[in-house]
Amino acid sequence: MPRTGGVPESIAHIAPDPLEPAFDPGAVIARLKSRHTAVKRALLDQGLVSGIGNIYADEALWRARLHGEREAASLSKPAAGRLIEHVRDVMLEALGQGGTSFDALYVNVNGASGFFDRSLNAYGREGRPCPRCGALIRREAFMNRSSYSCPRCQPRPRPTR
Ligand SMILES: [Zn+2]
Repeated sequence: MPRTGGVPESIAHIAPDPLEPAFDPGAVIARLKSRHTAVKRALLDQGLVSGIGNIYADEALWRARLHGEREAASLSKPAAGRLIEHVRDVMLEALGQGGTSFDALYVNVNGASGFFDRSLNAYGREGRPCPRCGALIRREAFMNRSSYSCPRCQPRPRPTR
């Protein structure tokens, strides 16, 4: 297997997570904008950014007012930058709540804690009002999981073909 700077290629391809000092938002934004794929799929790709699970992605997209089906490459540079900033904020807040990851917290304390009622704006809130505009949060199938979003703040992109 080819090596890059002494690091096996398989390891070199794991991107830093947004809380590591090596994380370079400018490089991530550029890579995100090069992806002709749904922005949520790009976020969950561990080769782009490490550590983003389904919950982080939905919460960051809600904050950025973006539908996960938007094509990553179609985002403006400022919009992509805001999205990455929201991803960072969501992860930092989850850590501040004492978890190592939002997704782990969800699995471990689902139903046993008020954490998610206080902290989640979209994920798992199907049929409940969007905290920003009051429209009812919708759930859509995404790969083998679900995506939660606000129909008003996060309009579905129009089909391009
Ligand atoms: Zn809304």
